[in-house]
Amino acid sequence: MAISVGSQAKVVIVGGGIMGVSLLYHLAEEGCTDTILIEKGELTSGSTWHAAGQCPSLVGNYNLAKIHNYSNWLYPKLEELTGQYVSWHAAGGIRLAFTENDLDWFRFLKGIADNVGFRMEIIDPKKIRQINPFINTDGVLAGAWTLDDGHADPSGLTSAMARGATKYGANIERHNRVTDITLKPTGEWEVVTEKGNFIAETVVNAAGCYARQIAQMVGSDLPIVNMQHHYVVTGPVREFVERDEEIPVIRDPRASAYLRQEQKSGLIGIYEQVAMTEAWEPDGFPSWASDSELFPDNLDRLMPWLGYAMERMPVFEDAGIKRIVNGAIPHSADGSPLLGPAAGLKNFWLCCGSSFGIAQGGGCGKYLAQWLLYGDSEINMTGFDPRRFGSYADARYMKAKGFQDYRLTYFTPLPGEELPAARARRTSPLHDKLTTQGCVFTETFGWERPKWFSLDGRSEEYSYRHNNVFDIVRNECFSVRERVGLLDLTGFAKYEVTGPDAESHLNNICANAMPKRTGGIVLAHILSERGRIAAEMTITRLADNHYYVLSAAGAEMRDLDHLSQNITSDEQVEIRNVTDERGVLVLAGPKSRRVLAKITDEKLDNDSFRWLSGKEIHVVGVPTRALRVNYVGELGWELHPPMEHMETIYEALWRAGKEFGIANFGLYAVNSLRIEKAYRGWGAELTNEVTMIDADMERFVKLKKEHFVGKEATLRQKQQERALQLVYFEVESSEVDVRGSEPIFMGDNCIGVTTSGGYGHFVERSLGFGYVPPAMSAPGTELSIDLLGERCRMTVLKDPAYDPTNARLRA
Ligand SMILES: Cc1cc2nc3c(=O)[nH]c(=O)nc-3n(C[C@H](O)[C@H](O)[C@H](O)COP(=O)(O)OP(=O)(O)OC[C@H]3O[C@@H](n4cnc5c(N)ncnc54)[C@H](O)[C@@H]3O)c2cc1C
Repeated sequence: MAISVGSQAKVVIVGGGIMGVSLLYHLAEEGCTDTILIEKGELTSGSTWHAAGQCPSLVGNYNLAKIHNYSNWLYPKLEELTGQYVSWHAAGGIRLAFTENDLDWFRFLKGIADNVGFRMEIIDPKKIRQINPFINTDGVLAGAWTLDDGHADPSGLTSAMARGATKYGANIERHNRVTDITLKPTGEWEVVTEKGNFIAETVVNAAGCYARQIAQMVGSDLPIVNMQHHYVVTGPVREFVERDEEIPVIRDPRASAYLRQEQKSGLIGIYEQVAMTEAWEPDGFPSWASDSELFPDNLDRLMPWLGYAMERMPVFEDAGIKRIVNGAIPHSADGSPLLGPAAGLKNFWLCCGSSFGIAQGGGCGKYLAQWLLYGDSEINMTGFDPRRFGSYADARYMKAKGFQDYRLTYFTPLPGEELPAARARRTSPLHDKLTTQGCVFTETFGWERPKWFSLDGRSEEYSYRHNNVFDIVRNECFSVRERVGLLDLTGFAKYEVTGPDAESHLNNICANAMPKRTGGIVLAHILSERGRIAAEMTITRLADNHYYVLSAAGAEMRDLDHLSQNITSDEQVEIRNVTDERGVLVLAGPKSRRVLAKITDEKLDNDSFRWLSGKEIHVVGVPTRALRVNYVGELGWELHPPMEHMETIYEALWRAGKEFGIANFGLYAVNSLRIEKAYRGWGAELTNEVTMIDADMERFVKLKKEHFVGKEATLRQKQQERALQLVYFEVESSEVDVRGSEPIFMGDNCIGVTTSGGYGHFVERSLGFGYVPPAMSAPGTELSIDLLGERCRMTVLKDPAYDPTNARLRA
């Protein structure tokens, strides 16, 4: 198709950096060439052209590792595929470890490597020196050697994908700036450019450092901050001149630096550990005119880390610095890219926010193209969905988080570690009270949520193994199982769905059937057209045409879109996000009925208030929604009072519960309690990669319903052989539990992956979930799991480890 102003396209991509071009290429590979990419300057003239081009495999996030791995698979092949030279250097990489925690992290990453399929070895300093004879290994305990990665010329990679895309028939419009984007009454987007307008069914914002400005054109904003980052190139290094082999890319946490060979010179990039206020000009940077722009260098800012890097590779010191590059990198708040639909906007997608866009570009384009065209992707995209952030992630939040993320680039991430930047953006009215009771909070979707309670003032010693809060969590679990526990879960996403078509609408988008009786509660899932899991919600019928819908805190924006964007023009349905209007208190445990009975006149016996029902009751005179459900597997109620009454209700429960030994508990305990009950988690077991059949959740699918989204695909799957099956298992391990992403082995073959796990304190067993081939899923099957380098026996279980008949819930 020859494009001209006024052209229409299925997809218009704004921005011709590596992210936008990769998306264009992969859409074309999937057969979608009704596309136009619009770039204001030359391709790559934003951040891409000046990048150092490293493409590491070693990433602590399983799904991000798949993105990196795909790029590292694609890039060496691009020249053959497209005819464009990309200068791929298969140098591999070595990341250095200095502490036992670093080493445990490497062991965890080795599991990811085995699962994802890239080669990695943990090597000692002697081996490091054999591979790189010029390195100083003082203080180094070990190295994580990845053999399948390397570096490439970012412009070459982008040009190759652009060439490949246009060969397939995709269109690229260069030297034309997008100046506005408006929504037409038809639902299409009008993309206004300096040279005229284009009409798009879907717009993708791939504008790199300008992505916020593009988002603002459609009344939105993005959690992106642009950081300045330096690398320096030395003069020729004599030792490299005399040698044919290239050294692997060295990643040194002490120097907060990457060090590599650039032809016969050295290249050092520093993630300096300073506050970096001078790196950020929120209003003026980057200017619209910015094109192939570099900033004045500031070597002082790189000290002392540049010095440490020179100490690591003394041969660089003698070569002197010949070139300095200081360019802009877009950073998201959590360091992962923004891939997927923008919140609240239909057919407006994001492909931006990547701070390692060269390494991630290939994979981001591939998996986003799948999601855009088919409704889901073959990898779990939950952690990249831009709707993982809400309006709390404003410019101030982003600045703090972005700086933190930049500084932490070479820090070892530790399980449970709480990071200080931009906290307490959303708090429950109980926040201060719980703080005085020793509450340690964790952050989800801006909310501060109780994690555990430090009753003796101790702080957590973060570790990949059981640590000094293990016994404290055990006590919290026992208080719920034996007495009664209280938890503030105010962060839950909450919606009211009302109107004459509320029931039919929910039945249309959910696989389960809506409850027929007032007060009935169901667990309901929204599926994609391909039958994969998009959302999980707890839905209560409060009255005819009035439903109260609850979802995970992190899904607040995403599920709002699911609920509201599928209302058809002839349906009368209103969706209201009431998350900030109501608090949530979980009261659970065998004594919970007696505690609640002391402060309400409502009858709480099984005939009057049965399990899986909800109603409006009065608690100390406050009208409160009470739902007899919970995620911990005990008799109990979730109380949802108006936010302003949270403190009153909490205090009344606390007073009433004193004689029964009431105790606070937090999310660490919840994980232990739910894994004992084999409750699955959205985003871990229930993801866009799998169907309800794969996840063994068919009992929540009502195939007898005339229609629901994903029904045909579910019926089709029932006729086919499956590739995956979720299993629940016990693992024999003394001080390490499953976290998710560990490889599952049959003999020496990696046949599956864990999704989540934890220690069941009450049943005294280490438990988990994972996906394996159906032939290996029968209860009693013995497999093994790699836990921090140790092969541990796992046995598939038939039933939940705790209360398989739900007797406690029905008590
Ligand atoms: C010094 C340095 C070294 C780096 N080294 C590495 C590395 O080794 N490995 C790695 O993975 N990453 C590295 N990065 C990061 C990497 O450069 C970025 O993550 C990546 O380039 C982002 O790509 P992008 O496509 O999102 O953005 P960009 O490349 O900035 O592309 C966005 C494009 O959108 C265009 N655009 C913006 N507004 C409009 C508009 N209104 N109309 C039309 N077009 C528009 C811009 O002109 C630009 O070309 C480095 C960055 C720096 C600064």
